Amino acid sequence: MHPAIPQLLELQRLDQVIASSRAELDSLPKKLKEADAKLSGARAAVAAAKDAHTQALTHRKKLELDVEEWRSRAKKYREQSSSVKTNEAYKALQHEIANAEGEVSKAEDLVLEQMMAVEEVERRVKHVEADLREAEQAIAAEKKQMQTQYGGKKKNLEAALVEREQVAKRVPEELLDLYVRIDRKHPGSALAEARGEQCRACGVRVLPHVLQMLKTETDEEVYRCETCGRILYSLEPIPHALPKETANGAASS
Ligand SMILES: [Zn+2]
Repeated sequence: MHPAIPQLLELQRLDQVIASSRAELDSLPKKLKEADAKLSGARAAVAAAKDAHTQALTHRKKLELDVEEWRSRAKKYREQSSSVKTNEAYKALQHEIANAEGEVSKAEDLVLEQMMAVEEVERRVKHVEADLREAEQAIAAEKKQMQTQYGGKKKNLEAALVEREQVAKRVPEELLDLYVRIDRKHPGSALAEARGEQCRACGVRVLPHVLQMLKTETDEEVYRCETCGRILYSLEPIPHALPKETANGAASS
């Protein structure tokens, strides 16, 4: 097995970290937008309640004008009644006055009812406005948390990029080029463990002599899976320069 395999495995681990960090960072604007979208329901409720309030006020105004109109009619009839000549005309006017006053009273009742309706709508406006404020606070907190996570992930990404550069320097150029080419085809898994006589990436059998060479520490060849083309490595014996958790991480990919 080529002595730079441990560095390549580390490179692969870092490339996985870099790819997943980038994917998470790229998803942030969408997540922020989704969080904002959660407010649209609460905002629509406020707009609807305010609309209902305007309509209720308009209706109250109209009913108040009705009261005014019937009052002025009653007043006009009373003024006319002082100048009528006949008894019949006087009686007719009295009838009109009584009718107009009845209408005033009915219209006043309606105004009262509408005032209560307006108050009810005002309570609803306050209620949905409070709901909206609460939702806004919750979303603001959620977004703040996302921004904090974003900051952390960005740092991780930057650290991984710096580390990758360092590790890449320790890999022979030709081998690095090969790794990059295979990684382009199989992102995050340019290397595959050869275990149980199989390439663990594609499942196809690895020839016994290749397995044997992979386990030979003095061997410096690069072996690739004949089927998927990935660079093969063996963890038996575990390459000594390789930290254990790195080996496990790469093996499970
Ligand atoms: Zn394979």
